[in-house]
Amino acid sequence: MHTHSHSPPYASSPEEQARLLGTDAGTGLAPEDAAARLSTHGPNALRRQKPKSVALILRHQFASVIVWLLAGAAAISFLWRDVAEGVAIIIVLLINGIIGFVTELRAARSMEKLIQLSRLHARVRRGGKERMIDAYDLVPGDIVVLEPGDVVPADLRLAAVSSLEADESVLTGESHTVTKSIEAVGSDAVLGDRFCMAYQGTAITKGTGEGIVIATGMDTEIGQISEMVQSASGEVAPLERRLDMLGRKLVWLTVSLALLTIGAGILRGFDIATMIQIGVALAVAAVPEGLPVVATLSLARGLWRMSARNALIRQLSSVETLGATTVILTDKTGTLTENRMTVVGYLLDGLDVTLGTQDDAAAFEIADERLAWALRVGALCNTAEAGDGPSDERAGDPMELALIAAARDAGIDRADLRRRYPELTEHAFDPARKMMAMVLEDGRHHLVAVKGAAEEVMALCTRVFTAEGAEVALEDAARQDWQRRITGAAHQGLRLLALAMKRVPGAGVDPYGDLTLIGLVCLRDPIRADVSDAVRASRTAGVRVVMVTGDHADTARAIASAAGLGDGALEVIDGSALRGIDLDTMSDEMRARILRADVFARLDPATKLTLVSVYQRAGHVVAMTGDGVNDAPALKKADIGIAMGLRGTEVAKEAAHMILRDDAFSTVIAAMRQGRVIFQNIRQFVIYLMSCNVSEVLVVGLAVGGGLPVPLLPLQILYLNLVTDIFPAFALGLGAGNEQVMSQPPRDPKEPIIARPHWWQIAVLGGSITLATLLAFGLALFALELAPAPSVTVAFVTLALAQIWNVFNVRDPSTNALNNAVTRNPYVWGAIALCLGLVALALWQPLLADILRLDPPGKAGLGLAVAMSLVPLVIGQIWIRWMPGARHRTGRGGQ
Ligand code: ATP
Repeated sequence: MHTHSHSPPYASSPEEQARLLGTDAGTGLAPEDAAARLSTHGPNALRRQKPKSVALILRHQFASVIVWLLAGAAAISFLWRDVAEGVAIIIVLLINGIIGFVTELRAARSMEKLIQLSRLHARVRRGGKERMIDAYDLVPGDIVVLEPGDVVPADLRLAAVSSLEADESVLTGESHTVTKSIEAVGSDAVLGDRFCMAYQGTAITKGTGEGIVIATGMDTEIGQISEMVQSASGEVAPLERRLDMLGRKLVWLTVSLALLTIGAGILRGFDIATMIQIGVALAVAAVPEGLPVVATLSLARGLWRMSARNALIRQLSSVETLGATTVILTDKTGTLTENRMTVVGYLLDGLDVTLGTQDDAAAFEIADERLAWALRVGALCNTAEAGDGPSDERAGDPMELALIAAARDAGIDRADLRRRYPELTEHAFDPARKMMAMVLEDGRHHLVAVKGAAEEVMALCTRVFTAEGAEVALEDAARQDWQRRITGAAHQGLRLLALAMKRVPGAGVDPYGDLTLIGLVCLRDPIRADVSDAVRASRTAGVRVVMVTGDHADTARAIASAAGLGDGALEVIDGSALRGIDLDTMSDEMRARILRADVFARLDPATKLTLVSVYQRAGHVVAMTGDGVNDAPALKKADIGIAMGLRGTEVAKEAAHMILRDDAFSTVIAAMRQGRVIFQNIRQFVIYLMSCNVSEVLVVGLAVGGGLPVPLLPLQILYLNLVTDIFPAFALGLGAGNEQVMSQPPRDPKEPIIARPHWWQIAVLGGSITLATLLAFGLALFALELAPAPSVTVAFVTLALAQIWNVFNVRDPSTNALNNAVTRNPYVWGAIALCLGLVALALWQPLLADILRLDPPGKAGLGLAVAMSLVPLVIGQIWIRWMPGARHRTGRGGQ
């Protein structure tokens, strides 16, 4: 780093650092300068996210057993002076390689692009302007602006702070937050004591600040401590790993089958050279070489579909988990609701104010002291920035913006108000207390304005503000009356916030005590339009939806019931019942109650973690949404942590596995559906490929073993394999799925891609194709009395067509035979057309027919082939329809 010859950045002033790094804390780097630095320093990335290089992908294509088998077969052909066949095998090999290469390259690039979309952002000052940039583009010398909820995007020497606090536990293991300053510390200060630094990966919990980037990427502290920092891309999806294992098993199985066939053939007196070639061709035929490529392709395709529906995957392994999710713990505000709040009324001492339309509100005269103070405190005890005109930029909590808007509609200008009551101290919103306070100057007095959760604030109130502007003691009877009114408003799904104040002689008093209750403000936050459909869809899909909110139990219940949660009666647990409970000492009764609940109200973020654990211990696969810094541990712990793209903090996004670009609950369901579709597609093309391959091995093996002539020549097998394997399998991998994917219970996460019923299906499909082909071969030889060459052609055509029709046999058993994801998949029809064309070409293109040694068998022969090729289709459909083994019964029924 630049600074090594000088004292470390934390032991010198920010000005000195700015000078050393050639930057200006006021304006930041010029954009061109930043671009130049980026090319010298490289991106700000931990563990360089190297995209899969072209060379690597190319090498992939030639690193498989199949390629070596094929090369061996070609060598043997050349040895036996069969040049045409040797060349043909090499061509097949090249075509295979090219298809694999192009597909894998495109899939890898598109996945990389998608994962880039979910990168973190940083707020920097460049060329005198503040802007959001991709955190990867940060360079030393950049000026970064920090806000609560940010992940520090690089190592910074702080140049300005305003009550800035950071959680540095990722680096130091210390769980308490550290207060930052800009004063230099000794050059021997340990990491945790360098208060003037903000390190990459730590979280800003409070306050704001600015700092100069002194190190990026692997030069940062976190980069140096650990080279193994979690990073989203680059990992192999477990799905791909499992397929790889499956593929390996198959290689051994088929190589042994091929050896057996060779042995049998030699014993029956076939020429050894031919037998070796047949054996090699068989082995090649049987290995589903398309498998990994098609898997990658379907994953990439699925990821694109998810991103088109606003779900960004940060971790490939989540794709699989999504489809297995059994419970979703969702936020209320902003996820189920729109987070567009409006004040609809006030509950004051002895008076309910209902605001109707906006005109009414504007016309409303605030002669009433109670209401005037409610409006004032709402606008003063408020951290949102709101311009005065409707088009001005506004930023902040929608609830606070609504309070400002309500005051403005009543003719109270916030700027005037703030001049009248200048701000002295802000006690930021404390999630544990569920309230915030603002200490203001009011002449010679101080005015404390408080707003927060109704119960919590009321508990601190000893007096109440009356119509006459007097403050009278809050009696027990009156408290009960207030309670009743609160419950009444909450039942309508309104969000309630208590407003309170007190006047104190000077500074230094606890804001949270001995308060005067002004009243409650009622806000409406409409439910998102698509929520009840999405909730219904998840119920059909066997996935429970549970609301987890910080809001009042009655408000939560009303919203939950409007959203359609629960079956009939809603089970609501108030967070106060769970406070401080311990996972290990929890009673079974409590555990059962938690698992039954539909709504958790007044829940603090720490308890979310416990909830996730309780569900996981009960065998659930848990998806959980979150947005705040406090949600990060629970998001990490969940099987699928889902962060909000709009509302969420960078800390939450970093901890999450998936990001919702639109914050909407329905997007979770859409992503889940895609997760299931991807899995189903992979299962379908695996069944397809394997049943086709099995039939090729069996046809030759059984014929040779049973004393028939060789029904298929090696090159024919290779050609078939190329024709029937790749294209229909690709098409299946690209399928868009059907409605039924969301009417089945979630898949058991431990369930293999190919479970027992699927093995049976492979056996039945492979077996029936084999039988049909052998039957056609036999009939051609003995019934039509064709010569061996045209008979072989009959077998070839039968097998080719039967394999093409076989795509229709892998449909989801619960779907209709004519109208399902396979028949509606345009790629499937494209693949079929292409394959039929290739079969025709092989038969009637003289050169190709010659190389493949195909001899047109005449109308009768072709008719026989076509007829026999339909037999496996019929058997496959009957099997799907009637055999219980083919039905989905591996999912875990209702939970
Ligand atoms: P959800 O979980 O659905 O987002 P929430 O916003 O109510 O619900 P929290 O943010 O945990 O959840 O807030 C808990 C409670 O604290 C709120 O119901 C509200 O009463 C109070 N509260 C939230 N934000 C503020 C704020 N800025 N000022 C004062 N009180 C607040």
